[in-house]
Amino acid sequence: MRADLHIHTFYSDGTLSPKEVVQIAKEKGLEAVAITDHNKIGAWEELNEAAKEVGMIPIKGCEINCKYQDKVVHLLAYGFENTPEFMKLIHLADDEMQRMSVDLVEELSKEYTQVSMADYEAYHYDVRQGGWKGLHYIHDRGITEKLFDGFKLYGKYNCDFTNYYFPKIKLLCEAIHKAGGVSVLAHPGEYYKNLNEAELKVVLEDLKGQGIDGIECYYPTHSELMTNTCEAFCEKYGLIRTVGSDEHGEFGKHAKVIEQTIGCVSKTITRNAIDKLTNSGGI
Ligand SMILES: [Zn+2]
Ligand SMILES: [Zn+2]
Repeated sequence: MRADLHIHTFYSDGTLSPKEVVQIAKEKGLEAVAITDHNKIGAWEELNEAAKEVGMIPIKGCEINCKYQDKVVHLLAYGFENTPEFMKLIHLADDEMQRMSVDLVEELSKEYTQVSMADYEAYHYDVRQGGWKGLHYIHDRGITEKLFDGFKLYGKYNCDFTNYYFPKIKLLCEAIHKAGGVSVLAHPGEYYKNLNEAELKVVLEDLKGQGIDGIECYYPTHSELMTNTCEAFCEKYGLIRTVGSDEHGEFGKHAKVIEQTIGCVSKTITRNAIDKLTNSGGI
């Protein structure tokens, strides 16, 4: 089946609405679609309705920041119920991301008179522009020339992901399972592109032990080695293979070096995989 199981809307940092996602997916001839906003699930109802109207399979999803070894990695959750335990972890990850911007503004306010916490708290931006509140704020106050330059400041002022508390991957997988959902490691190539095949297999083995049910094998930036190794690994252990573009709408176009638009990865996945992601009984 042709599907795109990794898409962002303006409920997180993308620029598209759930309805626009469905329209584009339909034009591209996709049969199933999932919206996986960062630590947010607000797009689900609109996606569900819009997809059913055009005869497409909607899949409930979310992309959550979590800790694994020394990294902050992204875990895709699918087909879950909104259990209090799982919702708590999503909110916690979201709060930590907001805190990164608050801390950055606090630091910048020491150097720039046009920046203050009170001003930041009162500041609003149009979510249809995508991105983060912090990025827009520091751009609008003239600290950065381009919106994307703001990302560098998070690192410069020690406000990047690795300095914040995100749930441990094992704990998150357990919560997803208890919520009847499945957990899929997002874009392994984003963290492990420098590993050789043997090293990659060791990491994947360990991640399997942490509780992942599948891997996003098919992703725009993945090398052939990454795709083939992940594919073979999933085959060996009966894990789910998923495909995703990581579309962020106009916001993504500024940052991405290669095309990451809905349906841009043409690899098909099995009906069985789709069923596992939509079946809220877990696996
Ligand atoms: Zn991601
Ligand atoms: Zn993503």
